[in-house]
Amino acid sequence: MANLPLHTQFPSIQALRDAVRSGEVSAVELARSALEAIEAQSKLNAFLHVDADLTLAQAAKADTALKSGDAPALAGVPIAHKDVFVTRGWRTTAASRMLENYVSPFDATVVSRLADAGAVSLGKLNCDEFAMGSGNETSYFGKTLNPWDHNRVPGGSSGGSAAAVAAGLVMASTGTDTGGSIRQPSAFCGLSGIKPTYGTVSRFGIIAYGSSLDQAGAIARHARDLLELLEPMVGFDPMDSTSLESCNGQTNDAKRIRSSFDAALATQQQKGSRPLQGLRIGVPREYFNGGLSTDVAQAVEQALRTFEDLGAVRVEISLPRTELCIPAYYVIAPAEASTNLSRFDGVRFGHRAAEYSDLEEMTSRSRFEGFGPEVRRRILAGTYVLCHGYYDAYYLQAQRVRRMITDDFQRAFSEHCDVIMGPVAPNVARLIGDNSEDPIADWLSDIYTLSVNLAGLPAMSVPCGFSAEPKLPIGLQIIGNYFAEGELLAIADCFQQATDWHQRTPGQQ
Ligand code: GLN
Repeated sequence: MANLPLHTQFPSIQALRDAVRSGEVSAVELARSALEAIEAQSKLNAFLHVDADLTLAQAAKADTALKSGDAPALAGVPIAHKDVFVTRGWRTTAASRMLENYVSPFDATVVSRLADAGAVSLGKLNCDEFAMGSGNETSYFGKTLNPWDHNRVPGGSSGGSAAAVAAGLVMASTGTDTGGSIRQPSAFCGLSGIKPTYGTVSRFGIIAYGSSLDQAGAIARHARDLLELLEPMVGFDPMDSTSLESCNGQTNDAKRIRSSFDAALATQQQKGSRPLQGLRIGVPREYFNGGLSTDVAQAVEQALRTFEDLGAVRVEISLPRTELCIPAYYVIAPAEASTNLSRFDGVRFGHRAAEYSDLEEMTSRSRFEGFGPEVRRRILAGTYVLCHGYYDAYYLQAQRVRRMITDDFQRAFSEHCDVIMGPVAPNVARLIGDNSEDPIADWLSDIYTLSVNLAGLPAMSVPCGFSAEPKLPIGLQIIGNYFAEGELLAIADCFQQATDWHQRTPGQQ
């Protein structure tokens, strides 16, 4: 591929860190080459807002710290943020007309923590409008192309986050996952992605979609880079009322993830040629029913065999409420969205209609003009299920199902297995526009990811193969119990030592 930026010469953030520290390459050189590549690949439409001055200022700061010998861990590493994280310099639009010209007066906690860690932001990434969608096609600023095949979606809602990493424009990116939006685009773009336990990464400064489901995470090529990114992101934040101070008796901080990763790695090493000896992998039988495509089923099966070769044992489990996650999620998420999005009224934030005769008309026109069709669909559905008279039948019922789904996972973890594995999505990336006749089709394809958010569990997507024809990436989902991020990353790392799917880049399928 033409115009690959300098950082693509380094296989990992660790390797890049060594290079910037030894003076082999500077943060400013890295940032310049990434900015050029973003410009050259603008057709992908992965980036919504780029500002060379802001980026180069961050890079220069990283270089100064590097020269002083006191640089933070990610000094000079080129990253970018999904456009739902508010940023002081770059606009933050949530890919919506509603926020077309919005500039936040403060940075989201995730943004400021990564900046403090020295990471250099290349700008803001395209996504589905207000993170609602599964293909990045609901963005007001146009669709993002999948770098593996420009006729296909990169997945969604963090489609720009995945496309930018897959195209080599940045080393890693941030994303949010309300119902699969980190895992599914990672799978569709041949990348690794992690959605941590709900409450471990601050939601402060993330434009809210479904507050009880939203969780920030990261997308990168492999598990080790995810660990690097996650370290500064994780931790208690007094500005987020659902942020966790501690979990399972451990402080919720970066050290927790690094130390459980290191401990898991040390145990693996002691076990020699069967590093995962004793690991019980629960494979839910409901994940392999009807809707799963043969290509995905075969790639996941192959991955499970690799895990068995590495010493793990496979246990068939049942998650009997799997199908119910779709109706439960598509009641709860829109209900929360309708509440969260009520703040966009044309008065305090966002778009205001040019013509109106009274206050009510101003609000309704502003909202009608500012929100796209998918967002309006969610607001209407959410408002409906919260209405007096329907609340018990829909919203309350969905909350009961949510509890049962959570209990099913807990039963599996306490009785049968240490982790759960299965597909991320039933199919590989679909063609752009393929679902335009049927907006609900994408909702159904979220079947394997939604229940993880309903239960608040951590989960990853890891590249595990390609479809036969056309050759497109497939992801394996690894779900852990609460706060098991370090263990999940270590398991994924072990798989990635044994396979090379994560090393393939577009054009090398
Ligand atoms: N596709 C799901 C939705 O549209 C998930 C989106 C997300 O995780 N942000 O709600």
